[in-house]
Amino acid sequence: MLGALNTNKIQSFGKTGISSYPFTAEKLSYSFDSLEPSIDATTMELHYSKHYHGYIQNLNNAIKNSQYIGKDITYIIQHIDKDEYIIRNNGGGFLNHSFFWKCLTPREKLPSREFTKQINASFGSMNHFKAAFADAALNIFGSGWAWLIKDQNNKLSIATTSNQDNPQMKFMQQRGAPLLAIDVWEHAYYLRYNNRRIDYINSLWPIVNWDFVSSNFSTIRK
Ligand code: MN
Repeated sequence: MLGALNTNKIQSFGKTGISSYPFTAEKLSYSFDSLEPSIDATTMELHYSKHYHGYIQNLNNAIKNSQYIGKDITYIIQHIDKDEYIIRNNGGGFLNHSFFWKCLTPREKLPSREFTKQINASFGSMNHFKAAFADAALNIFGSGWAWLIKDQNNKLSIATTSNQDNPQMKFMQQRGAPLLAIDVWEHAYYLRYNNRRIDYINSLWPIVNWDFVSSNFSTIRK
């Protein structure tokens, strides 16, 4: 059953520092080299300073003469049509990366007891969840993202999107509120891992900010 998504509940997700036009980069709360050895400093710097900033620049150019001026990025992502390609790709690029940076941490951050309980109920165990998530991320054809979402039936689900699509876009098959996102574009891992996407994915588990993921979970439960 595909019920209407309660956008009020997801409105608080993926919020960024400056969330309406002109959009600006979310500040990192850690240094480029602090996610070593999982993510090398050069990859982080290029990813943040070049790729991320490119999306922001293109997004601002597209928004400045559009009906979306003054609108929050989450609102824009939830309301665009699928053929609004420039905003779909660059707005998604901005929101997805702003969210992704917060999903990572150089210092171990543990999941809440409540979130762990829900993971266990939905996937059997945290290890089962990680295996299923890694498998989904590995099998995305081409560029895209793997997500843990709270879906339209209020269940935790693993979702994947292509390019810079986001599970909050209204034309997505798997829709929901993001709790965790992993970027599997080659630019996210190729320098260190070459074609070994699975090694990159598995290297991320120790640097996932489970405290952030848990707080996303508890925010939407209300
Ligand atoms: Mn990226």
